[in-house]
Amino acid sequence: MTERIYNFSAGPAVLPLEVLEEAQRDLVSLPGVGMSVLEISHRSKAFDEIINGCEADIRKLARIPDYYHVLFLQGGASMQFSMVPMNLLPAGGKADYIITGSWSKKAIKEAQRIGRVNIAATTEAENFKRVPKQEEITLDAEAAYVHITTNETIHGVEWNYDPKVGDVPLVADASSDIFGRPINVTNYALIYAGAQKNLAPAGVTLVFIRDDMLSRSPQGMHTMLDYNTHAKNKSLYNTPPVFAIYVMRLVMKWLLEQGGLEAAESRNKEKAKLIYDVIDSSRFYKGHADADCRSLMNVTFRLPSEDLEKQFVSEATKAGLDGLKGHRSVGGIRASIYNAFPKEGVEALAAFMKEFERTRG
Ligand code: PMP
Repeated sequence: MTERIYNFSAGPAVLPLEVLEEAQRDLVSLPGVGMSVLEISHRSKAFDEIINGCEADIRKLARIPDYYHVLFLQGGASMQFSMVPMNLLPAGGKADYIITGSWSKKAIKEAQRIGRVNIAATTEAENFKRVPKQEEITLDAEAAYVHITTNETIHGVEWNYDPKVGDVPLVADASSDIFGRPINVTNYALIYAGAQKNLAPAGVTLVFIRDDMLSRSPQGMHTMLDYNTHAKNKSLYNTPPVFAIYVMRLVMKWLLEQGGLEAAESRNKEKAKLIYDVIDSSRFYKGHADADCRSLMNVTFRLPSEDLEKQFVSEATKAGLDGLKGHRSVGGIRASIYNAFPKEGVEALAAFMKEFERTRG
């Protein structure tokens, strides 16, 4: 096999090696089917088993009650920025959004095309280094919903609690931390996530939507943008991304075999701690996020100068540690260490950081 380097990319991101190997082994001919998964019809029995098996494992992993629909959509999380308000925000209505980073701001931009958006809280003045405390959130009891971003991929800030929102439905973009830890699905009316970080390759977007939310979609919606279409047709109204769903099915099986979401969380905590410990014990590295809400998935930090950051990234790449450059909008370093990222790779980064500090600090 070609040697694999450590891939710290924020997404599309590393997939479990066992999953890649199974997909490779079965690529030309699915066992018992005699055709590649790339060739089969989405109306075939073989695909029925794949999508239904995937959904069953998702429900098991996240303990999703049957009054939630699990949808496999396309268009990425970015499409959900539009579909959420198009379906849930009535004409003349208003919605509460909490801003914790770049992704929540992108979500708001689309909601503003549909209705009034109230900023229920924002941590922008502190450059998004934390999430707001419950008492800092000003909610509108008449809002159609409250929207949060559970993990800000660019800033490396993750919610460390589910905000209390009374009877108003809570909607979450969980793209970059879904299934990285247990999730209290029943605290949310709708959860969406692009798959290409923790779930699957790019091309499929997961949506969990509580049944009562479906009645909110206005009459005359475009068919493909209406959640009802996908709920009624079990995500098979049109051709779904067959291959991405197939790989997701393998990843869900792998997650269950690894002990489910509780076990994933403890592995992720252990991995993230290896890097945060280096940051905390150093005056050379400076973590971006406050300790109580720093992300288990995207570890963001700075070096004393941009020049040192450039050298860090370039030497790390040469050492087989790829994708560490921070997002262009905030700079610095970002190590994305999703579920499938191996602990040895995190150990290698921690050792590299110590050595870089020793020689440049
Ligand atoms: N939300 C978050 C938190 C993200 O990290 C991303 C992608 N990095 C998106 C939304 C957009 O996702 P997509 O590219 O699937 O549209």
